Amino acid sequence: MELVFATNNKNKIKEIQSLLNGKFRILSLEEIGFSGEIPEDHDTLEENAFQKAEFIQSRFAVNCFADDTGLEIDALNGRPGVYSARYAGLKASAEDNIDKVLTELGEETNRRAQFRTVISLLLNNQRYSFEGMVEGEILMHKSGSDGFGYDPIFRPMGYEQSFAEMSLNDKNEISHRGRAVQQLISFLEQVKF
Ligand code: IMP
Repeated sequence: MELVFATNNKNKIKEIQSLLNGKFRILSLEEIGFSGEIPEDHDTLEENAFQKAEFIQSRFAVNCFADDTGLEIDALNGRPGVYSARYAGLKASAEDNIDKVLTELGEETNRRAQFRTVISLLLNNQRYSFEGMVEGEILMHKSGSDGFGYDPIFRPMGYEQSFAEMSLNDKNEISHRGRAVQQLISFLEQVKF
């Protein structure tokens, strides 16, 4: 069965295809001939993930899923949250976003934070939602150079290293996205069709 992943991120597609057994073939947006931008203009991860999946499902009449992720920092009342990608502005780099978070936190001692991923799946006109979360803390300074986004300043609870100091495999085992994807995969494995 074919399932479209409404993302332009090829790494995400590769990662999930490698985790699924042969039952599902994951198609990229490119493979279904879509090259535009998908709107995501809501205030929650749940609504944005659904909006993206629904946008593609309604135009191409395909089974489809989409994800949305945010870093939620307690002392910043959950910010940057749904605005994580563009926290320091529309054209902001990961560095800019990190600098903004570190400046806002300053010497704050409560550095608790979590990454949260929501996946919205539209399968045979039914709507399903999956969530993965990892708790941790925001470091005082950047540490490590692997990964992307906020990885250099996020240390998962119970670990000595930041996400940017971990191997991709180790990160995927415990990460928000890894956990949400595992939930999606467990669900898809028991779907009967
Ligand atoms: P997206 O919904 O997967 O595009 O993620 C939105 C934003 O959250 C990204 O642009 C990153 O800034 C941040 N982000 C998502 N996942 C991660 C991660 O695993 N590590 C660090 N930052 C992340």
